[in-house]
Amino acid sequence: MFMKDQEFQETILKGIGGSPGICIGKAYLVDKEGVDVVKKYVVPAESLSGEVGRFKTAVKNARAELQRIIDKTPQELRQHAQILETHMLLLEDKMIYDRTIDLIEKERVNAEWALKKVVSLVKPMFESMSDDYLKQRAEDITHVSDRIMENLVGADQVNIARIDKRVILVARDLSPAETSQIQLERIKGFVTNRGGRASHTSIIARTLEIPAVLGVGNATLTIKNDDIIIVDGKAGIVVVNPTEQTLLETEERRERYDIQKAMVARRSHLPAQTRDGSRISVMGNIELPEEVVSVLDHGGDGIGLYRTEFQYLSRPDFPGEDMLFDNYKDVIDVMGTRPVTIRTLDINGDKAVNYIRDSHELNPALGLRAIRYCLQKPEIFKTQLRAILRAAAFGNVRILIPMISGIEEVDQTIRLLDEAARCLEQQGVAHKRDIPLGIMIEVPSAVVAADILAEKVDFFSIGTNDLIQYTLAIDRGNRHVAHLHQPLHPAILRMIKRTCDVAREKGIPTYMCGEMAAEPLYAPILLGLGVDELSMNPQAIPLVKDAIRSIDSKDIDDFMNAVMGMTTPDAVEALLAETYGAVVNKIEHLKQE
Ligand code: PEP
Ligand code: MG
Repeated sequence: MFMKDQEFQETILKGIGGSPGICIGKAYLVDKEGVDVVKKYVVPAESLSGEVGRFKTAVKNARAELQRIIDKTPQELRQHAQILETHMLLLEDKMIYDRTIDLIEKERVNAEWALKKVVSLVKPMFESMSDDYLKQRAEDITHVSDRIMENLVGADQVNIARIDKRVILVARDLSPAETSQIQLERIKGFVTNRGGRASHTSIIARTLEIPAVLGVGNATLTIKNDDIIIVDGKAGIVVVNPTEQTLLETEERRERYDIQKAMVARRSHLPAQTRDGSRISVMGNIELPEEVVSVLDHGGDGIGLYRTEFQYLSRPDFPGEDMLFDNYKDVIDVMGTRPVTIRTLDINGDKAVNYIRDSHELNPALGLRAIRYCLQKPEIFKTQLRAILRAAAFGNVRILIPMISGIEEVDQTIRLLDEAARCLEQQGVAHKRDIPLGIMIEVPSAVVAADILAEKVDFFSIGTNDLIQYTLAIDRGNRHVAHLHQPLHPAILRMIKRTCDVAREKGIPTYMCGEMAAEPLYAPILLGLGVDELSMNPQAIPLVKDAIRSIDSKDIDDFMNAVMGMTTPDAVEALLAETYGAVVNKIEHLKQE
C-alpha cells in the first residue's frame, strides 16, 4: 500500500490498452529532454567536411548501440529484434542519411539542424499515408533520428536497463529497442503518450506480459516523477494520485484477480468440455514460429491460425522456399500430431510489405490484399504453397486461404496447389498434397455465397476482425470508429449463423479465428451459433476454456432463440448477462483486472 498526500487530486487519463494487467507504483519519467531543442548555426566552408564526418560518426555510434541491444536481446524476444534490424537499415537509408549530408553541404548548416529538417520533411509523408503499417514507419523514423540526435548532441541515453527501482515508466514514446531492454523484476508497467495497440511496442509488452497503456496523449505533462499511478492495461486507463479508497479497491481487485488467474491457469490443460460433455477445440493464433510454445503453455489444442505474412514483413526481400519450409516445420515439430493451420500470405491492406514498390493504394483494405495479391503473383504464391506442402509431410497441417470473395479464387488456388504438388512429385521432393483446404470467411460475399464455396473446401474459418470491418463499414484501425466495431451486432450474428448453418448442411466444420473468439463472454453465443472450434491469442485460451466448461448445451437453444430476436448489440449483451450471470460475473471480474 502506498501512502499519499491528500493535497493531490485523483486524475484519470484515458489511453489505449496496449497490454492487459494492472500495476500500482511510482512513476518514473524517461523523457528525452534536450534532443528537441536544436539550434541552427552556419558552418564555415572549410569545416563542412568535418561537420559531415561528425554526422557520420553519430550514425556509426547509433549503429553500434543498436547492435549491442540486438546482441543482448533475450531469446524469447528475438523476433522483435527484427524491428531493430529495420532501424539499422533506416539509419543509412538514402532518404535520411544522404539527404542530411546533402543539406549540411548545400546549406552549410550544422548536422543537428540538417537532420531535424530532413526528418520534418520525411516523417509527414509516412504519417499522411492511410495505410496503418506505413504510418507506423513514421514512428520508426522518430526512433532512429532520436538515436542519431542523442549521439550528436551528447544527450543522456534513456538507459532503461540501468533503472534500479521498482517503477512504472512514463514516456512520450518507447521504441521497440527501449521496450526490449525492460527488466521484468524492476519495471512494473509503462505508459506512453504515443502509440497504439498495433505498434511493436505494445506487441512486446504483451509478450513480456506487463501492463501497458499507450496513446495517452498528455501522460508526460500530467504525471510527475514519483507520482503514485495505477496502470490498467485492459481498460486502457491510468489513475494519477489515486485516493486511498481507489488504491484499496484496486489492491483488492488485483489480489482477487491473481487468485482467480492462478486457478484458471491450473485448469488450462484440461479439455474445454461443456457440462453435458461436448468437447470444443481451443486453439492458438500465432504470428511467428517462436510463439508456438506459448500456445502449448496456455493449454492450446493446436494452431488455429498461423499468420504467415509476418515472415514477409521487416525483411529486405521475399523469403525463399527453404526458409519458409524451415519455419513451418519448426511449428509442426513442436505441435506434434496437433493441427497446425497455415494461412497463406495475407499482405497489403494494413500489412504492407516495404519491398513491394507498386503497392500504393487509395483504399488498401479494399485493394490488392491477401489472395488477390497472391493470384496476381503466382510465382510468389507457389513458393509458399510448395513450402507448405513440403512441411505438411511432417505433421497435421491444414491450409487456410484469406479474403476469399468468390469461387474463382478457390478454383485458382486449387489449380496452383495441384501444380505445386506435381512439380514436387517430379522433383522427387517429399510432400503431402492431401491436406484439408479451408477459407477465411471475412468478406460479406463469402457469407452470402457460402453454399457455393462449401462445395470446394474442407472447412470455413470465420475472421471476425475483417468480417466486422467489411460488413459494418468500420476501418478496424481507426480509433474514431472503434466503438462501432460490435461483434454482437445482429448483422454479424446472422452472418455467423448463416455460415455455420450452410457448413453443417454441406458437412464441413466452421472454425473461428477472429478476436471475437478470444472473448470468454461470447462463448455461449458462438457455441449456440454452431462454431465448432475457436482460435485466439494464446493468453486468452485458459479463460475461454473456463467459460466453455460452465455452459450446458441443453440451455442453449432457448437462449439462442432469444438472442436472435434481439435488435441491438446492447440488448444481446444484457441477455447474455441475465442468462449467463455466473459466467459473466466471473469474466467481468477478470476483465477488470
Ligand atoms: C480476421 O480478420 O478476423 C483474422 C483473423 O485475420 P487478420 O486479423 O489477420 O486479418
Ligand atoms: Mg482478416
